[in-house]
Amino acid sequence: MAVLLRNPKTITRTTTCSIKPLSSCISRSFSSTTLNSETDLKVPSFFSCISPPLRQEPKDRNVQWVFLGCPGVGKGTYASRLSNLLGIPHIATGDLVREELNSSGTLSSQLKEIVNQGKLVSDEIIISLLSKRLEAGEAKGESGFILDGFPRTIRQAEILEGVTDIDLVVNLKLREEALLAKCLGRRICSQCGGNYNIASIDIKGENGKPGIYMAPLPAPPQCVPNLIQRADDTKEVVKERLRIYNEMSRPVEEFYRNRGKLLEFDLPGGIPESWPKLLEALNLDHEDKCTAAA
Ligand SMILES: [Zn+2]
Repeated sequence: MAVLLRNPKTITRTTTCSIKPLSSCISRSFSSTTLNSETDLKVPSFFSCISPPLRQEPKDRNVQWVFLGCPGVGKGTYASRLSNLLGIPHIATGDLVREELNSSGTLSSQLKEIVNQGKLVSDEIIISLLSKRLEAGEAKGESGFILDGFPRTIRQAEILEGVTDIDLVVNLKLREEALLAKCLGRRICSQCGGNYNIASIDIKGENGKPGIYMAPLPAPPQCVPNLIQRADDTKEVVKERLRIYNEMSRPVEEFYRNRGKLLEFDLPGGIPESWPKLLEALNLDHEDKCTAAA
């Protein structure tokens, strides 16, 4: 359960703990915060330990972007393509959690307990994983990033502001009927784990809205007999997932819209149709544009 932060001004950075390694801040935070506290409005102490500030003038670094978009829209795919194109890391918080679970740090055992109990991973943990990742990247000489799956809440967005600068937030959108068809068309090979899609989407344009064409992603012949559909890819479940996502993400979109950082991008179709248009919207004129879309 996430703790509501009613007064973002309480996020302060103290310089006294700036030389402490983040790990000491993290372990301390677990003894001083509870995961289910709804009443504690104070920012846990370790937020003040996230340092040094991961801030550089935009001209001295690569882009620092966030990708938003509902499940199934292809956010990870586009974020990953752009990270390859720009030579910057694509940081998905889901991956950070999985990596930490597979490691043997103190945070890992805490995390295993939370996941085993079926609890939601708190903002505190996500932020500390992310800060650790950003600091490690900076130490290796990385510059810029694309965040995928974060921030999910206003509180996370506010905390992120305290840690680093976000230049642009790209909100990927796809018409619901196309999204539904795409989710319902998903198939996984039970033998090799390959992801395919049998949906052939061809929605005619109407009322000024352009049409959408998305080709299926057929499985190779050896996978065809093994294709399965995820049990939760039903119309009802997908619709409910979208409803929950929209409800949760609207305030985050608003947060960035108010700061003039939100770029709304309506996907015109599959990757071949969308990729060049996305690059155009991002003012990226790259010679890989055509080959990368192939
Ligand atoms: Zn297969």
